[in-house]
Amino acid sequence: MTKSDLNAVRQILESQLKEAVPTRALRESIFIDQVADPVDMTQQAGEREMAVHNINRDTTLARRLRAAIERLSEGSYGVCLECEEYIAPKRLKAIPWAELCIRCQEAADRLAGGSKAGTFTTDRMKAA
Ligand SMILES: [Zn+2]
Repeated sequence: MTKSDLNAVRQILESQLKEAVPTRALRESIFIDQVADPVDMTQQAGEREMAVHNINRDTTLARRLRAAIERLSEGSYGVCLECEEYIAPKRLKAIPWAELCIRCQEAADRLAGGSKAGTFTTDRMKAA
């Protein structure tokens, strides 16, 4: 990758990171809104659950994005964390924060099985 390629990647990662970091307002919406009306309770609980789900998902993504930006700074970006082979450029284009090459990712997905964390990874990573 050329230096300008890396700069372009960094910009993509940083703008995605900005979107992925849960806003303070969203966090607070989970903890306030205690309603007295029992009819509203069910709906509120559903919304809270959804917000928690979104925050968890965004936090995972934000962590991956930050790690990718760190690897850019260290000069280890685009190298598989597992086998240390270069990750295919096509895969990096689809998933700029990819940590593993497709082979290691598939192995990791098999290990993760049907766990919740694994499902997130699988959904995102299968795009490549
Ligand atoms: Zn690998």
